[in-house]
Amino acid sequence: MAHPLIRNNQHNIGHICTTQQCLEGRGANLAMRWVDSQGTRIDYSFEDLDRESNRFANLLSNLGFGSGDIFFTFLPKMPEQFFAFLGALKLQVICGTMFSNFGEEALLDRLGDSGAKGIITKTSLLKKLLPIRKRLPDLQYVIVVDGDDDPDLELLSYRRLLAEASPDFLTPLTQADTPSVLHYTSGSTGKPKGVLHRHGSVVLQSLTAREVLSLTHEDLFWCTADPGWVTGTSYGIIGPWSLGVPQLHYGGGYDAKVWMQLLEQEKVTVWYSAPTALRMLMREDTSIFASVKLSSLRHIFSVGEPLNPEVISWAQKVLNHEVYDTWFQTETGAIMISNRPGLKIRPGSMGKPVPGIQPAILDDTGKHQETGIQGNLCLKPDWPSMFVTYLNNEKKYQERFQHGFYHTGDTAVQDSDGYYWFMGRNDDIINTAGHLVGPFEVESALLEMEEIAESGVIGAPDELMFEKIVAFVALHPRYTPSPELELKIKLHVANKGSSTICPHEIIFCDSVPKNKSGKIMRRVLRAKYLGQDPGDISTMDF
Ligand code: ATP
Ligand code: MG
Repeated sequence: MAHPLIRNNQHNIGHICTTQQCLEGRGANLAMRWVDSQGTRIDYSFEDLDRESNRFANLLSNLGFGSGDIFFTFLPKMPEQFFAFLGALKLQVICGTMFSNFGEEALLDRLGDSGAKGIITKTSLLKKLLPIRKRLPDLQYVIVVDGDDDPDLELLSYRRLLAEASPDFLTPLTQADTPSVLHYTSGSTGKPKGVLHRHGSVVLQSLTAREVLSLTHEDLFWCTADPGWVTGTSYGIIGPWSLGVPQLHYGGGYDAKVWMQLLEQEKVTVWYSAPTALRMLMREDTSIFASVKLSSLRHIFSVGEPLNPEVISWAQKVLNHEVYDTWFQTETGAIMISNRPGLKIRPGSMGKPVPGIQPAILDDTGKHQETGIQGNLCLKPDWPSMFVTYLNNEKKYQERFQHGFYHTGDTAVQDSDGYYWFMGRNDDIINTAGHLVGPFEVESALLEMEEIAESGVIGAPDELMFEKIVAFVALHPRYTPSPELELKIKLHVANKGSSTICPHEIIFCDSVPKNKSGKIMRRVLRAKYLGQDPGDISTMDF
């Protein structure tokens, strides 16, 4: 039976998120409440979203774009980015998204590897794009969202092109297999890979938005992720809008006060953020939270990194809310494993599989591990939002499928009640004195100490133990490093966990390196410790 979202076999994401909402009578409903970094608010209805994305589809079509061409957005979060994304998809143009703080090398890697034909950007970002343009022979069109035509620099004015573009567009019938979104992974562990998705992914993105995030038409959903990574597209755009659910989008960055104000004043009902943001909130003075009343808020969800139990109990105490952890990857396109309303949270666990998703814990030979024994976290193909390939690297894509399963590259364990527990990325697991230790377990124990603001834990070669546990620790400003504190930290971890997870070495630092989606870059810490070149750090947040 056809999925209820898919009418007349039309899988097109752009169509489903806009035109279909209008056809179903939600045209005048709020689609997006836009709040810019100055606090200015603009409301867009689904009709607005439909018209503006139609215009963008026509704009691209007028330039000669068509099915299968690759187009990128290189913009800060702003309404035009959403219009461009949905418009490109309507035309069956593959849309890639890039963080606006990417530097020249990161741009060159992605635009060069994908052979992108066009890009939309902002005047202030041109200084990063223009110097590399000669090295991008396929890049024919650079559209500047706030600029004029410039024949010398070969720049096109968005305003002029848009004025020439019709607001009417008939989205071509699009099959589930038609390529849709292109994401270069955040590169926590190496060179970014171009993960290509298909329009059929919308089926699972909408299902999880409804079944996990529990969204309804009465909600105002806020996903803090940038569309530069998968959460920002799967859940900042596609999942909610495919269901006709209104979203708040905010153009500014992290600011505890502003965020709390937005949650309260805009009456956000469901909030999706990341452990790194929640850990930052934990570091703030509690007076910020004392005066806010989050009475409209129904649920908080988290994604991107393991959610420390300490964060969950902080949110219960200070925000008066549970935080539900969700697990997925760029490659999976949608949430695969999650805690969710109706399922009892086990702090520290990722939760249970989404209905229809079949995870398995396998050893390296493909044998299923018993419950309680850790191994490779794998998923049974195919699920609707499974990636189609790594662009220009079909070999690497095929390597991910072994023994009849997709290998996620993460290590996990399943308990006897069916909950999955994240241990670490395979590359990050520490093998010390015959024990396998996940860095997350040590980091969570460290974070319980009031002195510690951030931590990143790695394994480093050791003659006796094979690997030793090295903890990088950033203290709250009111504390200073000392041998006594070092001892206290070691004792705390040994008492809390066990002596096997006790760090052998503590290194005090000002902050722990993170990438743009907020993940701790243990690869960079390891290189720093060993005095090696950290490799590709284009996604690092400086
Ligand atoms: P690369 O593959 O290039 O190294 P990346 O894996 O960081 O980049 P993403 O696809 O954005 O890029 O991240 C997915 C990974 O993030 C997962 O494989 C997992 O390691 C981690 N992750 C995501 N959500 C969770 C979660 N809830 N708990 C633990 N880890 C998570
Ligand atoms: Mg990955």
